[in-house]
Amino acid sequence: MSKAFYVTTPIYYPNAEPHTGHAYTTIIADIIARWKRLEGYDVFFLTGTDEHGLKLQRAALERGLQPKEFVDMMVEKFKEAWKALRIEYSRFIRTTDADHEELVKNLLMELWKKGLIVKGKYAGWYCTSCEKFFSEGEYVEEEGRKLCPIHMKELEWVEEETYFLKLSKFQDYVLKVLSETDVVYPKEYVREVVSKLRLEGLKDLSITRPKSRVFWGIEAPWDRNHTIYVWIDALLNYLTGIKLLKDKEFFSKYWSEAHHIIGKDILWFHTIIWFALLKMIGIPPPKKVVVHGFVLMGGKKMGKSTGNVVTIDELLKDFDADVVRYCLMRVMSLDKDIEFTFENMVDMHNNELADILGNLVRRLGVLSKKKLGGVVSKDSIDEELRREAERTIEAVRESMNKFRFSEALVKIFDLFRYLNAYLNKTEPWKKEKPNYELYNAIEGLRFGVTLLWSFMPYTCEKIAKVFDFKIETIDKLVFGKSEKFVVTEVPLLFKKIKKKK
Ligand SMILES: [Zn+2]
Repeated sequence: MSKAFYVTTPIYYPNAEPHTGHAYTTIIADIIARWKRLEGYDVFFLTGTDEHGLKLQRAALERGLQPKEFVDMMVEKFKEAWKALRIEYSRFIRTTDADHEELVKNLLMELWKKGLIVKGKYAGWYCTSCEKFFSEGEYVEEEGRKLCPIHMKELEWVEEETYFLKLSKFQDYVLKVLSETDVVYPKEYVREVVSKLRLEGLKDLSITRPKSRVFWGIEAPWDRNHTIYVWIDALLNYLTGIKLLKDKEFFSKYWSEAHHIIGKDILWFHTIIWFALLKMIGIPPPKKVVVHGFVLMGGKKMGKSTGNVVTIDELLKDFDADVVRYCLMRVMSLDKDIEFTFENMVDMHNNELADILGNLVRRLGVLSKKKLGGVVSKDSIDEELRREAERTIEAVRESMNKFRFSEALVKIFDLFRYLNAYLNKTEPWKKEKPNYELYNAIEGLRFGVTLLWSFMPYTCEKIAKVFDFKIETIDKLVFGKSEKFVVTEVPLLFKKIKKKK
């Protein structure tokens, strides 16, 4: 039986079209999923949408729609975007799915019965856009008015009955998990949440809203006048997705290998709140929470509230999906925010994809046709080239295991550079039948293309077709195994793009 692997994206809030920030996280998750499949793992990849809450309720009503009608419409935009970007998820979960609502009600009812949910009162200054209360020191004071620090609009005084989840009991547990395990990756992100936790302590969390204010949510099963707070509803999707209540064996197999991919802005919820909630339910923390920085445009975080959004439609107008995937991952870094511009993309497209990979494929294809009638037969092995190709597998695997995708791409392209240099050195165009040179170089290309497949699946499959080889799992990559390569047509893979003035 093959080893299991579980990877998730956060579920996205479908109050606007998906943008490059969403694409960044989702492409990272897709590449991890594809890479693990390539390594022979049995992968479950979950993404989806977080469809409840006041913001969506309002957005829908403003358009004269019922919330469900509105989210049904918006969800299609996410599905279309992921299809266009060649994202291959195992399930697209919606928090309005029947099995999810059932799970949320079931689990929270258990916690209610255990006395881990208690009635209380909440009062404070509230931002309707954030759906969040702000305490003194958090909000901005201006001419006697209290403003949301994010939206800079006036806060409302809200006083309401609510139910609290008794998180405070689990502070020591969460601290222990965070300080004694390496579940958060990269580790630097732990410091921030741990110091906040030490400073502020873990407070009980208000997890319901009065239905009179927020009707668009999952009903609290112990009190029909309340709906469940979106964050709690949303986090539990990771359990619904792998069938916690339907298939225990399926769940256990994947949960022990759970990897949550998240942006650094939602780290608190995905560690402190989530680990405590899991503990209450009796489930260990995920294996890894992989954290990345923001995608910046002109130095600012991309997002609806900052107004500097590049939608996925806009990206795909100028570039093929594989090129978008390549360029985003070429600058990807977990430790830092990344800056992403059209100029950078054009440079990467022209200087790396077209000049190095496109050129290599073209040279090998054209030479095979011209010199060997398109048929390159098995030949003896160039040992140095073989070592270079095999070394690349190990080097790329090392980077992939550390989620250093940019580094992995550089290593793959180093192999392509090596192969271009190999052609320059051996000059097969000067020989009458350069079968040996071309066979070895195409074997090298086969290695590189297999390693690149998770990043650029469509392009790699196209290259495989040019030379008539198959992309197989990495354990089957043996240099000199190919019987022959047959080239019929050599397409131009990357047409150079001019910079916009
Ligand atoms: Zn706000």
